[in-house]
Amino acid sequence: MYSVKVLGPRLTHLLLRKTFFEHFCAGESSQDILPKMRELQKYNVGGILDYAAEAKDGELPETVKPIDEEETVGAPLSSRSYDYESEALCDARAQIFRVAVRGVKDTIPDGFAAIKLSGLGNPVLLERMSTCLAEVCRLYKRLAHEDINPNENYYMIDRSFKIDLETFKTGWLKMFEGKSEDELKAMFDAMDDNHDGYISYLEWSSGVKLSEINEMVRGCKHQGRLFQAALNEEEVKLYRNMLKRVQGILDLAQELGVRVMIDAEWTDIQPAIDHITIFMQRIYNKGELPIVFNTYQTYLKGMPTRVQRDLDRSRREGWRFGAKLVRGAYMVSERQKASQRGLESPICETYEETEENFHQAIDCILAHGEDKTEASPGGAAAEVLVASHNRHSVERTIQKMTEMGVAQDRVGFGQLMGMADHLTYTLARYGYRSYKYVPYGPVDEVVPYLIRRTQENSSILGSPSVQEERQMLGRELLRRLRPIA
Ligand SMILES: Cc1cc2nc3c(=O)[nH]c(=O)nc-3n(C[C@H](O)[C@H](O)[C@H](O)COP(=O)(O)OP(=O)(O)OC[C@H]3O[C@@H](n4cnc5c(N)ncnc54)[C@H](O)[C@@H]3O)c2cc1C
Repeated sequence: MYSVKVLGPRLTHLLLRKTFFEHFCAGESSQDILPKMRELQKYNVGGILDYAAEAKDGELPETVKPIDEEETVGAPLSSRSYDYESEALCDARAQIFRVAVRGVKDTIPDGFAAIKLSGLGNPVLLERMSTCLAEVCRLYKRLAHEDINPNENYYMIDRSFKIDLETFKTGWLKMFEGKSEDELKAMFDAMDDNHDGYISYLEWSSGVKLSEINEMVRGCKHQGRLFQAALNEEEVKLYRNMLKRVQGILDLAQELGVRVMIDAEWTDIQPAIDHITIFMQRIYNKGELPIVFNTYQTYLKGMPTRVQRDLDRSRREGWRFGAKLVRGAYMVSERQKASQRGLESPICETYEETEENFHQAIDCILAHGEDKTEASPGGAAAEVLVASHNRHSVERTIQKMTEMGVAQDRVGFGQLMGMADHLTYTLARYGYRSYKYVPYGPVDEVVPYLIRRTQENSSILGSPSVQEERQMLGRELLRRLRPIA
């Protein structure tokens, strides 16, 4: 903004293009980037094609109400204000993502297309959905526990317990009216998938549908947070429109045999993204090739437990687990927002804790091999893309693969364009599945992505992967400056 004021839009555009854009992005359209993709292929490196235009995080959107005691939740309660221009924009973006899927098929059939759900639905809707999902999770805990902390970090909420019929009935009747004993028993039985007489969180979360919560909260005794968080009819319609856009892209991906990665974004909208992604994995990951990969950000507290929960879910529901694991790119803004709201930060307190989470999550997925005692493809091995520029994490993964006898085709490694080329090309040379994340898009639209890259790079200057890259650059500079003997 400052640069636009001082230099004007044309000069700013040129400056951005010649600096950050050319370093981190491959071009402005899916046609522009073809030479880059072919170049990668020459070295056996795959591509993850990413239309990088994204919604901007970092500031509270104007629609977010100020926090007060009654209304504070993991993601704030937003007002229900939607601009319909954005619906048309989302349709246009869905078309661009379909072109990207075709682009992958035509240039790097073994590659991926990456999509951001904040580009396919209004972020305000995603925020409202996330609030609603967080409240449904709290409801599960409230059914079995007297006291719960209404502001507990969503990712840290304990869901490891099970609920029997009596607890369910007592808990339910404390909060809702209008259901007879028989109706409650029927509800319980419908959720108790494995008929063991208990509801687990996995059963609860697949049994309660977002589109039905509106109906459910009509029986609330108090018009509290769950009541306020329920989506209204208009929002359910917008949600269904969004699902249609995502399914349009995934239908094409399935037809062409192209895999799609759903990027992880900021925590106010991430529960909704996870919810939609798992919904899609149930549909599109039934075959031999898992089409949909979710992204797990391990800088979030409690993430390995969530990875394990989704691994268990995939096996129980009979679909094939595919994931991209990252440390996470929104650390600065997440911490700022939590501090502004007076809430516990969802981000690990130290780099070492993030690292521990990252490695633990990788190990869980590597350990989730083929299980022939169960019906295929539910018993199929999980796949993972380790997305990191950290040499130690990459080497550790390879060592674990050897120790655990994990086949190379279950594990991929990915680095962003413009970063850690030494890792990408070395991995490819040694026969590992290695990928470059290739962002593209019009310079003006890619600006939030570029800001995030510079923000992230400045916040991780002390981290091992950046230090190593600096040392390598220093050594190379010295080598070039040294007179030829
Ligand atoms: C192929 C690919 C796809 C990606 N997709 C996504 C995506 O969908 N969503 C997303 O959010 N990011 C995504 N990223 C970005 C990724 O999260 C960052 O590149 C990554 O966080 C940098 O970590 P590293 O493992 O490369 O390096 P490292 O230098 O080892 O780690 C730096 C990271 O550690 C964490 N960290 C640093 N300091 C601290 C601290 N004090 N306390 C706690 N944690 C700390 C932060 O996450 C920081 O970014 C992607 C990256 C790649 C390569």
